[in-house]
Amino acid sequence: MTRPKFQAPTGMHDIIFTEQGYFKKIYNIVENIANFYRFEKIDTPILEETELFSKGIGLSTDIVQKQMYGLRTKGGDSLTLRPEGTAPIVRAFIEKGMFNLPQPVKLWYSGPFFRYERPQAGRYRQFHQFGFEVLGERNPIIDAQIIQIFFQILKSLKLKNLIIEVNSIGDSQCRPYYKKLLTSYFRSRESSLCANCRRRLRENPLRILDCKEEKCQPIKAQAPQLIDHLCKECHWHFKEVLEFLDELEIPYQLNPYLVRGLDYYTKTVFEIFEDTEEGRKQGALVGGGRYDALVKLLGRKDVPACGGSAGIERIVNLMKGKKIRLRSFPKPKIFLAQIGNLAKRKSLKIIEEFRKAKIEVAESFGRDSLRAQLNRANRIGVKFTLILGQKEALEGTIMVRNMKTGSQKIVKLDKIVKVMKKG
Ligand code: AMP
Repeated sequence: MTRPKFQAPTGMHDIIFTEQGYFKKIYNIVENIANFYRFEKIDTPILEETELFSKGIGLSTDIVQKQMYGLRTKGGDSLTLRPEGTAPIVRAFIEKGMFNLPQPVKLWYSGPFFRYERPQAGRYRQFHQFGFEVLGERNPIIDAQIIQIFFQILKSLKLKNLIIEVNSIGDSQCRPYYKKLLTSYFRSRESSLCANCRRRLRENPLRILDCKEEKCQPIKAQAPQLIDHLCKECHWHFKEVLEFLDELEIPYQLNPYLVRGLDYYTKTVFEIFEDTEEGRKQGALVGGGRYDALVKLLGRKDVPACGGSAGIERIVNLMKGKKIRLRSFPKPKIFLAQIGNLAKRKSLKIIEEFRKAKIEVAESFGRDSLRAQLNRANRIGVKFTLILGQKEALEGTIMVRNMKTGSQKIVKLDKIVKVMKKG
């Protein structure tokens, strides 16, 4: 088959009807949970000032260094397609003065995000996320609740073998000292590190802990762990988060190498995976954590916060391997067959009457012969076919055919909705 001249851009996809059911199912569950926990919906623009991301996510991160789609407007502004949702939400929180509202402010979102990545399993250039953010609360109960919300959503979507990895990456009290320790540890072993990690050593040594390269693993395994160097406050906070998770009976694993790819995190970080071959190939379904310093960094207000986001395509890919019932159109009770021009002209109005009465109707306007339309009605499996021919259209009547018994009767057109409601 020849390739069509125009195709969707690399790493970007149409979400056609075969996929929409999965998205709808996810959105329904997310919205129900968001409503139950009283999260307010927020939509932010697809484009933001580039500096919001370079400052918020961090200059040394992969996202800012390699993955942003930027553009310059005719007016000369530098804008970027949003690669993630937290920095825009913090921007909106500050801009709209939400720190004046009763705290915490609980927000949720969903929509498309953009990262210029090498397309591979579970990695797209345009993908969709939903996320939850709680701003204005320092208490570790929030960290646990955020984790619980994502876990419950994935469970409701019938994903199994879920693994929650948690870690604490400290804060401005304890991380600088740990970073020094780590840097000096890796510096003395620099020649054994992969090229990427040698760069990370200068820019962001914590990210070396995240490296998947074989040759870095034995060096990583001996590295000092932040968990042993947390300050009193971070230590207490992490212990509390774990205790809340224990109380919720949420299965988690400590992963001292989990640091996440965005600079704004403090204290708790977490990721959720499905522990299956497909799940491991794709990577994390959910990622998040606490970001107590981000609001101050972007807007000089000291507002602690915590949140996370989930990749919808990755969830859909896993749902596809399972028997999950998706909602399709409700089965219609009625088929409306029309013969001749006058009947066709009246059909649209009749169908609209049925819509108002909340009765599902199928039709096949492209078919003119009665036999073809009855065949179609049979295939759909309706209970009644309404036949509107030239004679009926002129007399203001319609014929009702019971598809099971084959019996037929004439009904006045203005009574047909009422009759069908009873039938
Ligand atoms: P992150 O902001 O990188 O922690 O991403 C949060 C979640 O979004 C991840 O756990 C993935 O499920 C999803 N995600 C991130 N990047 C991509 C991508 N390029 N394609 C598809 N999903 C992604």
